[in-house]
Amino acid sequence: MLDELNDAQREAATHIDGPLLILAGAGSGKTKTLTTRLAYLLGEVGIDPANTLTLTFTNKAATEMRDRALRMIGDKAAYPPLLCTFHKFGLIFLKFHIERLGRDNRFVIIDSDDKKRLIRSLAKDQKIDLNLSFLASEISKYKNTLLTPEEVVAKAELPDYKKAARIYQLYQENIEENNLVDFDDLLMLTYRILEENEDLRKETSQRYQYIMVDEYQDTNELQYKLLRQLCSEHDNLCVVGDDDQSIYGWRGANIRNILDFHQHFDNTKVVKLETNYRSTRPILEAANALIEHNSKRLGKKLVSHRGDGPEVELLHSLDEAHEARNIAQKIKGLLAEGVDPDEIAVLYRINALSRSLEEGFSREGLPFKLIGGMRFYERAEIKDIISYFRVLSNPHDDFSFLRIINKPKRGLGKTSIDKLMRLAHERQQSLYQAIESSSEAELASAVSKKAAKTLKTLNETIHELQDEAEKSLYNFVDFFEEKIGLKDFYGSMVDGFERILNIDEFYGYLRDSVMKNPELTLDEFLNDISLQSDQDEVEGDAITIMSIHAAKGLEFEHLYVIGMEEEFFPLLGDGCNMEEERRLGYVAITRAKTHLTLCYSDSRFYKGRRKQLEKSRFLGEAGLIQNASLKVTRNAEYKKGDLVKHKIFGIGRVQAVSKSGKEYKLRINFGGTKKEILSSFVQPA
Ligand code: ATP
Ligand code: MG
Repeated sequence: MLDELNDAQREAATHIDGPLLILAGAGSGKTKTLTTRLAYLLGEVGIDPANTLTLTFTNKAATEMRDRALRMIGDKAAYPPLLCTFHKFGLIFLKFHIERLGRDNRFVIIDSDDKKRLIRSLAKDQKIDLNLSFLASEISKYKNTLLTPEEVVAKAELPDYKKAARIYQLYQENIEENNLVDFDDLLMLTYRILEENEDLRKETSQRYQYIMVDEYQDTNELQYKLLRQLCSEHDNLCVVGDDDQSIYGWRGANIRNILDFHQHFDNTKVVKLETNYRSTRPILEAANALIEHNSKRLGKKLVSHRGDGPEVELLHSLDEAHEARNIAQKIKGLLAEGVDPDEIAVLYRINALSRSLEEGFSREGLPFKLIGGMRFYERAEIKDIISYFRVLSNPHDDFSFLRIINKPKRGLGKTSIDKLMRLAHERQQSLYQAIESSSEAELASAVSKKAAKTLKTLNETIHELQDEAEKSLYNFVDFFEEKIGLKDFYGSMVDGFERILNIDEFYGYLRDSVMKNPELTLDEFLNDISLQSDQDEVEGDAITIMSIHAAKGLEFEHLYVIGMEEEFFPLLGDGCNMEEERRLGYVAITRAKTHLTLCYSDSRFYKGRRKQLEKSRFLGEAGLIQNASLKVTRNAEYKKGDLVKHKIFGIGRVQAVSKSGKEYKLRINFGGTKKEILSSFVQPA
C-alpha cells in the first residue's frame, strides 16, 4: 500500500506516535495519504480498529475513505474503524452519554429548516421582528462559543441582541422540553459532557488512541476544543489540510486552528507535500497565480506531476441563457466523444445562478443532478413523512406532531388545535399525552365532540403504526401509506405527479436501508437522514451541478465554473471577505483534472432586474485575461487582406476592421460566407 505514495507521503503515512500536521496544497494527495495511514495503522502496525477515529467533512468522504482503507488491507481488520463527520461522532457519543446531562437518549435531531420554523414561531409569540437568519446564526454562534442562554441574557446590551438572547433562551427551553437537539448541540453537548466528566473524558481519550482529521482548515473553535478533550490522554492526532482552501470562515471556521497547530500541540511533525497529482500544468498555474494575490498565507509551491495539458478556456456569453446553451453545446460534444457524465461538473458561487443552468440543461435533454439546491429532505411531502416517523419514534415531539396533526386534512381547525394546545399546556403534558390520557368525553369538553373523535382516532393510528414499525420496518412502509394516504393527498395537487415520485423514492430508500441493515430501527434511520449533507447526494450517471463549497475535496476531468464576474465571483457586498473569495476561486479551479473552462457573461437577470457585469478580477489575477488582452492588442493589428483562422469556420480573409468596446471586430470572408467576429476569436493563419 505504501508503494503508491511518494517519499513525503510515505513519511507521513508511517509516522505513528505524536502530533502530525500534513499541510499541503490542493490535489497533493492529503486525503490519499490519510487513507493510507489508516490502512497502515490497522493492517501493518496492528492497531485495533476500535482505537482509531477518523473525522471527515462529509459522510460521503467517510464512506469512501473507509472502503479504500479496508480494500488496501484486505480483510485483516476484525471490524470497520470509526470514520465519520464531527457531527456524526457527536451523535454516537450522545446516544451513549446524554444521560449525564439528565436527558433521555431517545432525542431527535432537528435540521436547520425545523430550527428556523421554531424560531419563527417563538419570535412571533414574543412580537420580535428580527430577521430569522440573523436569529438562527446568533444562536449557532452562542452554542459554538459555549455560551448558555443565561450567560447570553446577562451579557446582551444592544436591544437587538437582548431580543436574540431572549429567543435563544426560549428556543433552548423548547427543544429540551421536546427532547430535540440541533446540529450545534451535537458538538456542544458532547464537549460539555467530556468537560464535566473526567472519568468519561479519560475513558474516551484512551479508547480513541489514534485520531485523524481531514480538511482541518475548516474546523471551528468548538471542534478544536473537542479534539483537545479527545486527546487528553495522548497526542496522537494527525490532521491534514490546506490554509488556502479555508472557505467556511463565514460559518465560524477558524483558519488559526491549522496555522497554529504546531503551537497547540508540542513536538508536532510537519510534512509538506509539493507534488500535485490531480491537475495539468495550465490549470495549476492559474490556481497558483490566483492564490498568490492573498497576503495571509503560509505560501506553498505545487508542481504538476501530470505536466502539460490543454489551456484553460474562457467562455464568453451574452447572458445566463446563452451561457447555459454554450455550456450545454460543449458538454454534448464531450458526451459524443464518449466522456462519462460523471466526469463533468459545473460549479457556481451562489445558488441563484444554478436555475438558468437547470433550465438550459433540461431543454437540451442533458442528464444532470443538482447538489445542494432544494434538498430532497426539505420538500414538504418528505418532511411530512419524516415528521410522522418522528412522532412514531417519539410521540412527545410536539413540533412534529403539530406538522402532521391535520395532514392529510382531518377536519381539525385552528381553533381546535389551539384548544388542544392550551389543554396540554395546563396539564404540563405533550399534545400526544393530552390526547392519550383523556377520555373522549373529557377531550370533547376541551375541544369539540367532532375534534375529540378525530384526535382519538389519530391516537389509535399512531399506536398501530408503532406496532407495525416494531414488527418489520420493511413491511411497515406499505402499511403506513395505506393508513395515512399521503400519496392520495399530494397526488391531487398541481405538481402531484412529481410529489408522488418523491414519496416513492423515499419509501424505496427506507426499504433499501433496511435491506442493507436488517437491524435498522426507525430512530436510527431518522438520525442518519438528519445528518446527510449536500455532498452525500453525489452519485449516479449524470453531470454534476453544485456549489463550490459542496465541491471541496472532489475532482472532475472536465470542469466549468460559471459566473466569473465582479459581484458574483468575487461576491461583493456587505461582509465580503476578499481573501476567502479568492480561496474559493482556488478551490474551484483545483477541482479540475484536465479541462477547465471559466465562464463569464455580459449580463445576468438577478433580483428582479438585468445587471450589466464586468469580468471577474480573478480571471486577471489567474493570468488568464492578461493573455487574452495581449491577444487583443496583437489582433488589433489585423488589417484588411490578412488571413486568419477560426476554430469553427476555418480559414478566411479579413475584409474590414472596426473597434467594438475593448475589442476589435473583424469582417471575415470564409470561402464566400461572410461573418463578423471578435478578433480574440481568431488567430493569424
Ligand atoms: P484536496 O486538497 O483537493 O482535498 P488532496 O490533497 O486531498 O486534495 P487527493 O484527493 O488525496 O488530494 O489526491 C488527488 C489526486 O491525486 C487523487 O486522484 C489521488 O488518487 C492522486 N494521487 C495522490 N497521490 C498520488 C501518488 N503518490 N501517485 C499517484 N496519484 C496520486
Ligand atoms: Mg482532500
